[in-house]
Amino acid sequence: MTPSPETVFTLDDLAGWPRSDPSLAVVGHPIKHSISPAMHNAALDVLARADARFAGWRYFRFDIPPADLARALPLFHAKGFQGLNLTVPHKVIAFNELNLAANPAQPGAPAATHVVERAARAIGAVNTLLRTGAGWHGHNTDGYGLATAVKETLGRDLGGTPVILLGAGGAARGAAVECLQHACRSLWVANRTRLNLDALLIDLAPLAGKIPLHGFDPQHPPADLPEGAIVINATSAGMKPSDPVPVDLALLPQPAGVYDMIYNPPETALLARARELGLPAANGLSMLVHQGAKALEIWTGASVPVEAMRAAAEAALQRR
Ligand code: NAP
Repeated sequence: MTPSPETVFTLDDLAGWPRSDPSLAVVGHPIKHSISPAMHNAALDVLARADARFAGWRYFRFDIPPADLARALPLFHAKGFQGLNLTVPHKVIAFNELNLAANPAQPGAPAATHVVERAARAIGAVNTLLRTGAGWHGHNTDGYGLATAVKETLGRDLGGTPVILLGAGGAARGAAVECLQHACRSLWVANRTRLNLDALLIDLAPLAGKIPLHGFDPQHPPADLPEGAIVINATSAGMKPSDPVPVDLALLPQPAGVYDMIYNPPETALLARARELGLPAANGLSMLVHQGAKALEIWTGASVPVEAMRAAAEAALQRR
């Protein structure tokens, strides 16, 4: 059998994995609609034309339920996978698996088989695993993807800029850590559920240092919000046409730009409102491309063809 990147593979398929050439994969649940295989295989084709080392590399998709991830990670390693991307709902589960083995609790326990990068530890989630001799090296490239995308699309560095961040889930956590690590001027976080917002603010407080960190109710933005902020939507509100806008942009004091992590649909109600108000705005496709490019760079050590990845991602979205 020659596995096709279009097929959705399962844990049973992994047990009988037939390839000896280097394999990469995105692992999620569900995973059918992921455009990552199209994006990465386009880049691997370009790399292979320039360097024969990459001729056999292919990127696949696996649907693994959360309860099976702990069994799947060592099996991917045993089957010779060079790297994995983790997506919903596995980023935190995989972090916990790796972190446990990277920091054995018992004195005299076996040496660590896994390593977790500092940025991923601060976020508490991994989206990229690199094969090592003994286990996996966990990274989180989402923050890099966001910072690069904001710079590319809105022409703004997160460093020195006030940020209004919408959401308190996994993506918001990664974005907040990235903003604080880039020394944003201030960070204002808004979320529908106050309890989740407060939990995030408690976790972020030690990272913030002298950077002003505030939370607010998106229905009632406070009067002292900063002017010239970059607004980042890290909620999932906007994926469905019936979703409410996560905040009324007209209530914010002259934002400098709006970045929506959602890329499907390409224009959410929030982005449409930004356009009406004449605000610079961009969707999350650039973030997807840059987090993927950084992952591919980690796996291959090569200079990655970002434009080929972007073109393939756009084409894959059009086909959906
Ligand atoms: P998550 O952990 O499930 O968090 C969802 C967040 O959205 C929570 O803050 C939740 O608020 C909020 N939310 C959900 N429905 C809402 C609604 N109707 N109104 C207001 N707020 C709502 O999800 P996630 O992993 O953080 O992902 C969030 C979004 O980022 C998704 O759309 C995902 O596709 C996108 N994303 C994009 C990229 C990229 O590369 N472009 C990367 C990562 C994530 P509560 O706390 O009130 O429930």
